[in-house]
Amino acid sequence: MFKKHPRGLPVLFFTEMWERFGFYLLLGIFVLYMTDPADPKVPAMGGLGMSDRDASDIFGTYLALVYLTPFVGGLLADRVLGYGRAIIMGGILMGLGYCGLAIPGSGASFWISLLLIILGNGLFKPNISALVGNLYDKQERFRPYKEAGFNIFYMGINIGAFVCNFVAAVARNKIGWWAAFMSAGIGMFLGVLWFMAGRKHVAEGDEIKPTKPGDEPVARILGKVLGPAAAFALLGWFGVPAILGAKATVFGSHSNDAFLFACIPVVWFYVSLWRRAEGEDRERVGALLPIFGVVVVFWAVFHQNGSALTVWADRFTDRDMPASVASAAKTFDLVEEVDTTPRMVPKTDAHGVRELDAAGKPIEVEGPHPYFNNLPKEQWPPPEVKKPLFSTELFQSINAFFVVLLTPVVVAVWAWTARRNKEPSTPGKISIGLFVTALSTLVMVAATYATHNGLEKASWLWLCGTYAVITVGELCLSPMGLSLVSKLSPPRLTAVMMGGWFLSTSIGNKLSGILSGLLDAFEHKSGIFFINFAGALAASLAIAAMVPRMRGVMKRYVDK
Ligand code: GLN
Repeated sequence: MFKKHPRGLPVLFFTEMWERFGFYLLLGIFVLYMTDPADPKVPAMGGLGMSDRDASDIFGTYLALVYLTPFVGGLLADRVLGYGRAIIMGGILMGLGYCGLAIPGSGASFWISLLLIILGNGLFKPNISALVGNLYDKQERFRPYKEAGFNIFYMGINIGAFVCNFVAAVARNKIGWWAAFMSAGIGMFLGVLWFMAGRKHVAEGDEIKPTKPGDEPVARILGKVLGPAAAFALLGWFGVPAILGAKATVFGSHSNDAFLFACIPVVWFYVSLWRRAEGEDRERVGALLPIFGVVVVFWAVFHQNGSALTVWADRFTDRDMPASVASAAKTFDLVEEVDTTPRMVPKTDAHGVRELDAAGKPIEVEGPHPYFNNLPKEQWPPPEVKKPLFSTELFQSINAFFVVLLTPVVVAVWAWTARRNKEPSTPGKISIGLFVTALSTLVMVAATYATHNGLEKASWLWLCGTYAVITVGELCLSPMGLSLVSKLSPPRLTAVMMGGWFLSTSIGNKLSGILSGLLDAFEHKSGIFFINFAGALAASLAIAAMVPRMRGVMKRYVDK
């Protein structure tokens, strides 16, 4: 295998594996940490004691911002820093951010740490992907293996994402929150050291692109985009309620409005790149922009894994853990224990829909742990006996597990089609990926019917099934997208266009939060999954219609 791939690939593989280890470690425990009650006696052991609403608002905004900065990071790397330096700087910033979170409390250190991670990811994420692509471009013999290279790289991402949840669970339960954050930080620094040690193997792809006459200086671009983005954000936050009335919002909350409004000038920046480009560059950028558009839909559906699907895992899935597994799992603190002792819990109807008061806050009543809401009384444990359950966070590792498991299968299928001269083009694969994504939502539709709309607990196999199918979709789309961006973007703009790819993720992430809020809005829970189905199917068809044109562009400029 290593003859076909550049020697820099293992360097980038493990660097990215460690970076994603820290990234997903934080994502997995972030909400839990924020909502965990503070411990006034030993602050280092407690969480931040925030309300669910504040925590999920901070989480959603963090997830959106962390993928917004790659646009700036890509620009800086292309024109000023070069990829290697941007990766090292980004890695150090993120490592410092994770370690900073180990300082207890929600004071300045908490916010500064988050800011460091957001900025660090901007410098790191688009540039490591751009560098992977560059290594393949530099030598003719590697070029045909670029897609396979991105598939391998994507496995590295997901090995990190799979392992981190277990490390986080053990570290936080055995030692404390700070130990989990420190593990993320140490992982990130190991990644930076590994990258520095192997840097000579990636030197060939590490370059700064010369500015062409007529190219705008970076500072001017940033001024032109960031200023208006800030102004639009303010308009979204303050202007909407001022104009439409105090409680009015366009996308459901002030922070959603601020973020999505702020994206308008950034999106406009990409559109104007295309409008101002000429000839070959114009065709290349013009082929990528529609891909960015439909990819927004993919991430909007996919990232409901952290919201709607996690709620499904938490409230509607049978998480009962057999006693034989429980004792082993307890050693690693991977168990959640629930009992029927009455306590204050959110009031729900039989279908698990929470009832809200006039101010929109959940009404609380006395009752058993909410897990028992849709579990027949005969299955309740005797009073005060605890029932062991699989921790909800563990469901977060399923997707990463399937990526590692299924990548070789998907790669083998493409190889098989290639042998028959029928391999789909990269945009074709993206269209297939969106179609498979649409199918994955039907598994959840079936689950909502099988449980009589949440009246009964669902088997965990439904979630596994939907994750298995959407992972196949992801594998047709996400690594392919990285490869396509690196093939199609005008060479001077690779990292900027990578930033555009992650901007789509960022917008998709925000929309996923808004969509998953609809889980309870329909009388039948299948409603939200049908919306996802329609969106993914429409996006798949839209790209399918554009495939011939994109293939033309690729034939002319890429595969020549
Ligand atoms: N799971 C992939 C990663 O972390 C894709 C994430 C994304 O682009 N939204 O790189």
